[in-house]
Amino acid sequence: MTRIVDARLRVLRAPVNDGIAMSFSPLRDRSIVLVEVSTEDGLTGRGESWINYPPWAAEERVATLRDGVFPLLLGEDATRISALHRRLCARLDPLGRQWGAPGPIRQAISGADLALWDLAGLRAGAAVSTLAGGRVRDRIPVYASSLGPEDVGEKAHECVEAGHTAVKVKLGFGRAKDERNLAQAREAVGPGVTLYADANQAWDVAEAVAMAPLLRDAGVEWIEEPVRGNPLAGLEELHRRTGLPIATGENLYGAGEFRDFAASPAIAVLQPDLAKTGGLTEALAVCALAEAHGKSVLPHLYGGAVAFAATLQLAAMAEAVAGIEYDVRDNPLRDPLLAGPPVPERGMLDLPGLPGLGVRLDEQAVAAVTETEVAAPSHT
Ligand SMILES: [Mg+2]
Repeated sequence: MTRIVDARLRVLRAPVNDGIAMSFSPLRDRSIVLVEVSTEDGLTGRGESWINYPPWAAEERVATLRDGVFPLLLGEDATRISALHRRLCARLDPLGRQWGAPGPIRQAISGADLALWDLAGLRAGAAVSTLAGGRVRDRIPVYASSLGPEDVGEKAHECVEAGHTAVKVKLGFGRAKDERNLAQAREAVGPGVTLYADANQAWDVAEAVAMAPLLRDAGVEWIEEPVRGNPLAGLEELHRRTGLPIATGENLYGAGEFRDFAASPAIAVLQPDLAKTGGLTEALAVCALAEAHGKSVLPHLYGGAVAFAATLQLAAMAEAVAGIEYDVRDNPLRDPLLAGPPVPERGMLDLPGLPGLGVRLDEQAVAAVTETEVAAPSHT
């Protein structure tokens, strides 16, 4: 028994230079919620909760963590990660259903779950990936994410220069622009580099079917979230009519929601996001599902330093992980917050092994981007 004695959060925020466009809404700054859970033995674990959208997500997450998650953690045994995870879901999911916001609930739980795993590693004096069944690898391929909708050729060329061997292009900005961007990307990287594409749910099934010849001509290996609302039946229809391999999962919450997608022949790649779907606990369960159905996992990763670190630990411990999404856009909340950030070389990343989530945060850098700090309500 190692009692949880404190829980806090910080909203981290920093402006970006390159005004990242998505098919649904631009991302004008980078922001994450850092969750900090402390135990009676004097250790503090860190987790990350995803708040990229909507722009006011931080306000919601502060309230959900402070008033929903933290009171359920205080006084509990931090070593019982699975049991605590289940307790959080059992108590908070019903509120999420009534609210119509099950996702934000799981995004909040993700931050707590990752902090508990970090604590487990810190307590053991070992990287999380060396606990339980141990490591399955020490390096992992990455793909460069995400290019577009402007200057795709130039950026793709930069990625190849930096040694990347796989690149993802953003689509869903209208057929003419999408066609131009796919052609520019393929021309810039040549035939030897793998191309993926992400539509961020921009199309209906008919529009996605109409895009299939362009995707095939550019040699796109899989299309991510091609259909609005991500309905499995729609994805299956698209796959039936075109044969396109499909990737999805960044908007699925918990291994339970992945079950039918993992079993479907339409879905080639599962993409759980550790800071959204429920931390390492759910991501490991998704990897087990993927392995059972012979599917690959390429975790979604578009966040900060702690989500990056946790995803690398998952890659080190789960056989099903075939690669990692590597954000090549301006990200002041990833590498600048890490002491010695892992950097890919020739499309591969060495998986770090420091105690906890494998990395060390630069505390001064974290303090410099801290917008708000909030403590748990006092525990009685
Ligand atoms: Mg995506």
